[in-house]
Amino acid sequence: MTPTAPITQDVLTLPRKLPEGGPTNIVGLTRDQLREALIAAGTPEKQAKMRLGQVWQWVYHWGVRDFAQMTNLAKDYRALLAEHFTIALPEVVSKQVSSDGTRKYLVRIAGGHEVEVVYIPETDRGTLCISSQVGCTLTCSFCHTGTQKLVRNLTAGEIVGQVMLARDDLGEWPVQGAPKDETRLISNIVLMGMGEPLYNFENVRDAMKVVMDNEGIALGRRRITLSTSGVVPEIARTATEIGCLLAVSFHATTDEVRDQLVPINKRWNIATLLEALRAYPGLSNSERITFEYVMLDGVNDTKEDAYRLVELLRGIPAKVNLIPFNEWPGAPYKRSSGNRIHTFADIIHNAGYASPIRTPRGEDIMAACGQLKSATERARKSSREIAAEAGLAHGQ
Ligand code: SAH
Ligand code: SF4
Repeated sequence: MTPTAPITQDVLTLPRKLPEGGPTNIVGLTRDQLREALIAAGTPEKQAKMRLGQVWQWVYHWGVRDFAQMTNLAKDYRALLAEHFTIALPEVVSKQVSSDGTRKYLVRIAGGHEVEVVYIPETDRGTLCISSQVGCTLTCSFCHTGTQKLVRNLTAGEIVGQVMLARDDLGEWPVQGAPKDETRLISNIVLMGMGEPLYNFENVRDAMKVVMDNEGIALGRRRITLSTSGVVPEIARTATEIGCLLAVSFHATTDEVRDQLVPINKRWNIATLLEALRAYPGLSNSERITFEYVMLDGVNDTKEDAYRLVELLRGIPAKVNLIPFNEWPGAPYKRSSGNRIHTFADIIHNAGYASPIRTPRGEDIMAACGQLKSATERARKSSREIAAEAGLAHGQ
């Protein structure tokens, strides 16, 4: 990936049509979109492929934000790029670091909305938990984000931008000339922050394609996990169009309880969800589906629940991730006792499924699963306005 010598070219002969509506942000464009945009800005078609490769590497491999630093491009061409494009990330409004090393970033996006991004360092990995929406149109009763009224879909650029700003903060971009460092601070990405990723599918997909691209951030598809509450019609696309791993917020073993906890269950119930999961493309023992199960005291944590869960999972390559409930101000539930959680885990484990208990991280800074909720909520709107703004036709 060594930058090649500048290719001189008289760009003064190129059409100098300036973009309408200001410069285009490169961050979040797919390869095809960026190629088109480079051509529209005056890049000769014959050179478009090469220019695309060069710009892509500067932005996503080297983390460069200033066209002037793209030293393998002719000066005039850099100037042309600077006229037509920006390389812009969402703004980090604040950063909190937990006593356990977890970092939470509050990030401001266009329109003044805010989302949260969490980095969780562990001994063998570093996981970045990113958001797909401001708030969430769904209203799971145990989730803080679900109480936030204002919702808007994030753009692909805002999703990729979360990864890039975390790499900035962690100093993870490679240094030119330095030996290649294979250890990754961000080794995994989970779409488990704010929002339902399958209600913003195209943007999430495009963003993950950028993040997975081998000429850039190059995170392997198996290092990305998308978590859904169970948007059944979109589930298969996760495999066919992104190829990342899937997690499902299961949380209950009867429709009666799941209707209460994950109201989308009223639309697609447990049987329908399981049918979609059984048909999940590419499902295998090496690519199991993660069933997330939040442990709520006296609600879904009995031995009977554990046995029922085992029955429901039969035939699906699965692992069960038990999440001790993370409390938030005014939450209507309590965390199950350690004993209950361990008894539950043992039953699942003895039936042949991995059943790790997730260690809550960053609780002191409200960064744990389900605790995210930004102050954007203050601007309350009607659900009709919210749905219209988010472009959601799901009637949730
Ligand atoms: N909307 C998606 C992804 C974001 S939530 C989904 O629901 O899957 C990520 C995970 O955190 C989900 O499994 C969710 O159910 C869980 N979660 C939400 N609130 C929680 C809380 N207070 N304590 C523990 N886990 C929670
Ligand atoms: Fe939305 Fe997921 Fe929270 Fe449910 S658990 S309200 S789907 S973010």
